[in-house]
Amino acid sequence: ISASARGSLRMKSPLFSATGLFCYSEFSLSSGRSHFFVDAAQIKKVFHGVSATVEGMALASYMAEIAMELSPTPAEGEADAQLRLLLNCLYLIGERRYPWRQLKAVYELRALSKAGYMPDLRMCAGCGKYEGGEFYLDAVGGLLLCADCAERQRHIPNLDAGALYAMRHIFWTVEDKKVFGFKISPESLKDLSRVSEQYTLANLEHGLKTLDFLKTVLE
Ligand SMILES: [Zn+2]
Repeated sequence: ISASARGSLRMKSPLFSATGLFCYSEFSLSSGRSHFFVDAAQIKKVFHGVSATVEGMALASYMAEIAMELSPTPAEGEADAQLRLLLNCLYLIGERRYPWRQLKAVYELRALSKAGYMPDLRMCAGCGKYEGGEFYLDAVGGLLLCADCAERQRHIPNLDAGALYAMRHIFWTVEDKKVFGFKISPESLKDLSRVSEQYTLANLEHGLKTLDFLKTVLE
């Protein structure tokens, strides 16, 4: 739901703090003729750590844009799961315990899976191979191919063993809490990051403004 908070940019406004960027607040809304207005707002959590770094701000903006794209409309149902995931990620951005790209990939893939997008990561779609060597994930079709089958179809593998392991972990772990805690080498993280971004863009079917900016600040 989008709503305007009139006067909220003035520091003396009672809405000023609770309508700040990356503030988790509870809102009382009233509906006008064409859209909603914020009548009152109460802060529940401020993610101070997010604004401490440019990378954190850029990543949080990107996550928020994806959340807007993927969250169900009020008519489609509750968005609790998407909200919880976003709040967890905003918290972890502030904590700086994980590399930016790891948080980015976890958010992208979890948000997509909660919205019903799930690639078939069980085995190579050509020969049934489960693991060993590099694999290729077709971001558009959501299918996995082992290196041999990929070569036969003229695709270049895009996931090394560590990246495939991490991707399965992110999609298959049931509990949100446990999804962040995996170790990954910088090389595998590069693969994971690239492919999860491709998979995200392929499913959203368009680019994201915040991603262009994020790419300028992440090395
Ligand atoms: Zn194969």
